[in-house]
Amino acid sequence: MKTSPLITTRAELRQFLKQWRQAQPDGIVGLVPTMGYLHAGHRALLEAARQASDLLICSIFVNPLQFNDSADFNNYPKSITQDRELCQTSGVDLIFAPPAEEMYSTKPLLQLAMPDLTGNLCGPGRPGHFEGVLMVVARLFHLCQPDKAWFGKKDYQQLLVIRQLAQDLDMNITIIGLPTVREASGLAMSSRNAHLSPRGREHASLIYRSLELARKEFLDGCTNAAELIEICKDVIQSGTLNRVEYLEIVDARSLAPLSRLQSDSHFVIATAVFCEQTRLIDNIEILSHPDPEANSL
Ligand code: AMP
Repeated sequence: MKTSPLITTRAELRQFLKQWRQAQPDGIVGLVPTMGYLHAGHRALLEAARQASDLLICSIFVNPLQFNDSADFNNYPKSITQDRELCQTSGVDLIFAPPAEEMYSTKPLLQLAMPDLTGNLCGPGRPGHFEGVLMVVARLFHLCQPDKAWFGKKDYQQLLVIRQLAQDLDMNITIIGLPTVREASGLAMSSRNAHLSPRGREHASLIYRSLELARKEFLDGCTNAAELIEICKDVIQSGTLNRVEYLEIVDARSLAPLSRLQSDSHFVIATAVFCEQTRLIDNIEILSHPDPEANSL
């Protein structure tokens, strides 16, 4: 099968973009940054981006700076052949897949951090993670100069951090967040699911079931966040392979912890769970009041 063209160096990418911009000065460049081992969640981002872009770039780069655990980095699944096929069938115009020594040919001394958005949820358990994400996304944005970039709400905290990055540096890039794509069992699609045994997958599917149950309890009138958290934890931990790293209820915009919910609150129940050796994250966004601005997240 024919596959999407692949570029591995910054120089080639800049040259390609320069020529493309000369030919289409008003064209929309869309970017979907990924770490590869692409699945239906990535495909949803690529298909949405395809609709809205004249040039669609998918970056594939397992960013060493965002891994606080070297085993996790070394074991991260890879399959460039399948990724190229998925990119082709999703209409990607260009894959940018640099090796690490190309992406970081000099070690960056600049440090980017966003403590106000990373003090809870995934921040404490993964020291340095968001700093690494900020660096790689800032670099990808500078290299690709996209008009729009797509991210998944599965990584809800990451989406907010990146939206803030673009805003704080006035990058003039529209950041679009899309809903989490799930397997039939409810398990959020993730490249890391490849590490799970069939039994692990069954236990992991309790994560989303617990979040759905909490949503139902909230809609039935439970506004006490601590109670909802306990309900979720009980369900998740009934899967004996599961160990909860955190389970928090936070404001959907500031990520500040909430204790009492209002019927019109816009909030997120987010969790990280170790299943077997694999750390999985998931969340559910709850917005019972139809506020179009809030929905723009
Ligand atoms: P990753 O390759 O895991 O770094 O993810 C690349 C992009 O795909 C990020 O914006 C993720 O939030 C998004 N993504 C990953 N899994 C899913 C999913 N199940 N549904 C929607 N988006 C996803």
